[in-house]
Amino acid sequence: MSGWAERAAAAILPLSVARNLAAALKEWSYSGRFFDLEQAHGTCELCGQQDLRYHFEIDNRQTSASLLVGSECIKRFEIAGLDERGRRLDAAATGKLVDRHRRGLVEDARKQRVMTALLTLGQKDPSFDAANFMDFVDDRGSFTPKQVAMIFWRLGTAGIEYRPTDWKVRMRRDSDLGQLRTMTPAAYRRFTAALTAAQRKRIAEIEERFASYGQSWRG
Ligand SMILES: [Zn+2]
Repeated sequence: MSGWAERAAAAILPLSVARNLAAALKEWSYSGRFFDLEQAHGTCELCGQQDLRYHFEIDNRQTSASLLVGSECIKRFEIAGLDERGRRLDAAATGKLVDRHRRGLVEDARKQRVMTALLTLGQKDPSFDAANFMDFVDDRGSFTPKQVAMIFWRLGTAGIEYRPTDWKVRMRRDSDLGQLRTMTPAAYRRFTAALTAAQRKRIAEIEERFASYGQSWRG
């Protein structure tokens, strides 16, 4: 047995009816319950992997035992997820379910960091209308380029740490792109830290198009 399998057998056999790993794993299913530990200090109770931020619960209906594990272990050991009627899903469908739950946790954590930064800024700087921007996160999910450049500047000035990539920037409308053209170089630099790879590529394409006409996109 591999190291993974040995550790899993040691963890799971005492909590299962079957006496070998393959049969024991079939007694278990992913409960659909998952937890954000907020810091990466969790351990997978199946394989012993450390530094997990998210825990997923698996349980055994025959013994009523449950374990908190990493999402990778659910896939690695093909522990079945359940559909809404409680029927066992196959490995591919379970993998999709776990990935969806994990993405939800990551997205919630991102949104929480944005909200916390806005709230902290509002407390430190009463002239900043935090509530209005927090509504913005809830309603639209993304900010205009100008808003992001302004918020980053104010966060920096107030000494509040933030992850630029947590902030979603809207670049759909011409008016969004128009804002970029008139931004100061410093604001533009701050703003670009928030961009996704796809958005960076789009800006590079616009710059190239302007350059091909011998023009400069920005100023
Ligand atoms: Zn594990």
